[in-house]
Amino acid sequence: MAESLKNQLSDATAAVHGGEDIHLGMVTRAKVMPIFETSVFTYDRLEDLDDFLTGNPDNYSYTRLGNPNQRALEDWILGLETADLPPGNWDALATGSGMAAIAACIGSVCDAGSRVALSRDIYGGTQSLLEHEFRRWAVEAVFLDFSNIEEGGLPPGIRLVLVEAASNPLMRVSNIKRLAGIAHSSGARLVVDNSFLSPALFKPLAHGADAVIHSTTKYINGHSDASGGLLVAPAEWAASARRVVQNLGGHLSPFEAWLTLRGARTLELRMAAHSQNGQAIAEWLEERPEVRRVWYPGLASHPEHELAKQQFPRGIGGMMSFDLKGGSESVAAFMQGLKLIKLAPSLAGLTTSFSYPMKTSHRAHSPESLRELQITPATIRLSVGIENRDDIIADLKAGLRVTAGTGD
Ligand SMILES: *Cc1c(COP(=O)(O)O)cnc(C)c1O
Repeated sequence: MAESLKNQLSDATAAVHGGEDIHLGMVTRAKVMPIFETSVFTYDRLEDLDDFLTGNPDNYSYTRLGNPNQRALEDWILGLETADLPPGNWDALATGSGMAAIAACIGSVCDAGSRVALSRDIYGGTQSLLEHEFRRWAVEAVFLDFSNIEEGGLPPGIRLVLVEAASNPLMRVSNIKRLAGIAHSSGARLVVDNSFLSPALFKPLAHGADAVIHSTTKYINGHSDASGGLLVAPAEWAASARRVVQNLGGHLSPFEAWLTLRGARTLELRMAAHSQNGQAIAEWLEERPEVRRVWYPGLASHPEHELAKQQFPRGIGGMMSFDLKGGSESVAAFMQGLKLIKLAPSLAGLTTSFSYPMKTSHRAHSPESLRELQITPATIRLSVGIENRDDIIADLKAGLRVTAGTGD
């Protein structure tokens, strides 16, 4: 509190005002942006409030509407996702989760009667969002197999096409350039969920996508300690999406934004390590007698191996799936043999973890749908971390040994 007030205030007032006069001119010399963990900003002059109301993006008012930590993360992703593009009017939006970014992206473009086309193997949360929420608002989800669709071949009324650069859990790869052509020839926009690759490995806007979404909970943060989402879109679209987030209340907290940006600083190094370990471990798994099949686009056996080589020349990251011989009992046995690697229904952290799609991401699917997607009771999704490769392999080997009792 102001020095002049110090001796005039009661303890009750001092308790609520004490410590609020740290000189902000000094604070701003911090090497790293501090966490602006404040729900609201103050104004000394009415003109400054007017300046906020007329849209100055550097003027902050209320954290649900905007906060410097959110803005720092938005600038970071904007720089990376648009780096290879001619100058253009792009903007980014940070949200409290990947789902909030997807909801804002769809909600800012679709009206009652709009249709959204999705690949059948889209992330379960995205499917649920459309089927349980948007459907009640008369936005219809249309699930398509895009490999059978040519330019001009989309069903009528499609406003958005939403796909993943590499899908969950089998890492099926979409040809983004081709899909952009299909979407645009029918007057639709193409949105790519790039959570499995990150801009260190793939930049969908340079391949013709109109917008990019990330669950920063995954590779961008990379440390399994913060949830968040990002959308990069043409500025006008991003502004509409921002309004959706402000109205629905889906903003990213200052602390989560700060943690996410701290994690994101090492994205390039981590993705190189995830990719190198991923390739080596996929090749190792493919040779194991206990393993029926490995799904990793870096293997020649993957259906989109050639496309992946072309589209992701810098690597494919650490996500893969494999089928054990046997059924769910072999998965239970595998778990018993592991010491380092834990079942975690998420992905893309520093540590190697695995998930069981049948009981996590894909539990809502019918047996027919699982069969169509080629997910079996013995399918394990592996998120390869950045540990020493030999230690990961030793742990996997211990798990596999229990499944088959074969030893080696
Ligand atoms: C995790 C994930 C999401 C959802 O992100 P949250 O941060 O959990 O809301 C969306 N898309 C993909 C591909 C994901 O892996």
